[in-house]
Amino acid sequence: MDKYAVLGNPVNHSRSPAIHAMFRDETGQDMEYGTLFCPLGSFRETADSFRSGGGRGLNITVPFKEDAFRYADTLTERAKTAGAVNTLRFNDDGTVLGDNTDGAGFIADLKRLKWPVSGKRVLVMGAGGAARGILMPLQEERPLMLFLANRTVSRAEALAREFPKIVAGSYEDLASRGSFDLVINATSGSLSGTVPPLPDDIFAPGARAYDLMYTPSGMTVFLEWALSHGCCQVSDGLGMLVGQARESFRLWRGVSPDSERVLKALREMLRAEA
Ligand code: NAP
Repeated sequence: MDKYAVLGNPVNHSRSPAIHAMFRDETGQDMEYGTLFCPLGSFRETADSFRSGGGRGLNITVPFKEDAFRYADTLTERAKTAGAVNTLRFNDDGTVLGDNTDGAGFIADLKRLKWPVSGKRVLVMGAGGAARGILMPLQEERPLMLFLANRTVSRAEALAREFPKIVAGSYEDLASRGSFDLVINATSGSLSGTVPPLPDDIFAPGARAYDLMYTPSGMTVFLEWALSHGCCQVSDGLGMLVGQARESFRLWRGVSPDSERVLKALREMLRAEA
């Protein structure tokens, strides 16, 4: 049986085994998917040992996405752009392919939600790994403008320089930038219950807000703030999580499972546990 796992530290909290078990059951693939704890500083040894034990692929979570980037023999274009790898595939010829499916999972979720990006004014908050992973696919959807705001402005400016047409600045700069149709929270602020300091009139009529963080209820402090400041529709990042997993599954197995059904089941699972 082909073996896969999510590698991280910590890793026990990961929802990936549940998601991939549902994908496997739906598609009838002969595979197993578990968790792989990796001691800090031991990425290469841990990945090598999984591989020599018959492993066919890995998902990579914090804090090893850059290690996985260096481990791969070849990288997809989107992994190169993201500067990080969340999916490794161990090929039959002994080579290792590194991919990053986070951005594709995010765009797939926007499409599921039927939230258009083309021609829209889009604000991305945050300049960490998650923001980096979604910028290129967002830009490929042709927004009217894409503004990148971050608490540490220099990080947003440095990141924006890597992409054509992205404007970077501080949260204070937003006061003179008008309103936005889509506001994406790619900060980790919601984890600590913090909402970035946005102007009260940030949302254009009909605007939407997306938080990359997910919760059992589907609400975060940022999404609550958005709804109380004129935003029409909100979504947390659970759909993105399922979307990036589906893209990894497709890379490994060559088939695309039904992510809508899995998302519904996962939400119910999280609610039942809460
Ligand atoms: P990261 O690399 O540590 O970056 C964190 C970012 O958040 C930085 O830009 C940081 O600003 C900003 N930040 C942190 N606390 C803040 C606060 N109190 N106010 C304003 N900004 C704050 O983290 P990451 O890997 O990019 O992850 C970001 C979020 O995305 C996390 O919540 C993660 O769970 C989520 N995520 C979800 C998925 C999914 O599949 N749904 C996938 C990946 C990530 P500074 O630069 O100023 O420090």
